[in-house]
Amino acid sequence: MVEVDWSRLKAHELRKLANDNAVVILPIASIEQHGPHLPVMTDTRLGQEIAFRAAHKVYEKRPVVVTPIVWSGLSEHHMPFGGTLTLSHDTFRRVVRDVIESITRHGFRDILISNSHGGNIIAMQQILDELAPNSEATLVATTYVTEAGEDLSKHLQDQPGVMHAGEAETSMMLVCEPELVDLSDIANIASPKLDEKFLSAGQGSYRWRPFSHVTQNGLAGNPARSTAEKGEKMLEAGAAALARLITDPETWLRPRDLRSSETGGVLFRE
Ligand SMILES: [Zn+2]
Repeated sequence: MVEVDWSRLKAHELRKLANDNAVVILPIASIEQHGPHLPVMTDTRLGQEIAFRAAHKVYEKRPVVVTPIVWSGLSEHHMPFGGTLTLSHDTFRRVVRDVIESITRHGFRDILISNSHGGNIIAMQQILDELAPNSEATLVATTYVTEAGEDLSKHLQDQPGVMHAGEAETSMMLVCEPELVDLSDIANIASPKLDEKFLSAGQGSYRWRPFSHVTQNGLAGNPARSTAEKGEKMLEAGAAALARLITDPETWLRPRDLRSSETGGVLFRE
């Protein structure tokens, strides 16, 4: 199998990949509590797995390389449960920015930031808003949970979509790290308040709260009927969604410029 792991390649092999216009996947995730049954690596492990699977799916059409994952995400809301390592927003922005700029300086021009942790989504978009206007690379950000959407949800029996440490993540971890999943009390640990949103106020407004506002044990969802079979289908669905995104030419096209040559009788400067 072709090597897609940046950290296992040699510098000259990475220079060749840049010359061959390879896509770079930069996975970002978290180390945070995932209830009493899953390890704190869950988002990091799943994000890595999906990135590598996606890279192998795409490679025949276009070379892809996956950087080491940025495991250090934004997880302040999980701190009350222990086990969680979080960065400040400022540090996270600088880490992701500096890694993107390193990749770009080596000549890679299409970079997919592939996120596997809900708490990173807004910051990831802000980082792209800041970098993209002046970057030599095209920067695209995705979260597999939203990119794969219904392709993931259709495998779930006891919750509407991928939730924190619930049926989906538990099933996928049964594939990736089965010896680290504790199934001993799995029928009794579902979150009782599945529908409650912890980051909202009023009808469409925002309020920050810790995750302990909605769950006693750190879960959102119901992992009772998690299986490795479901997990395998969901990992494949997540990887297939990323592969579609990478191979869609629209993803990497330069923005259009619909301006006419002048307005108000004044030419636009090049
Ligand atoms: Zn998670």
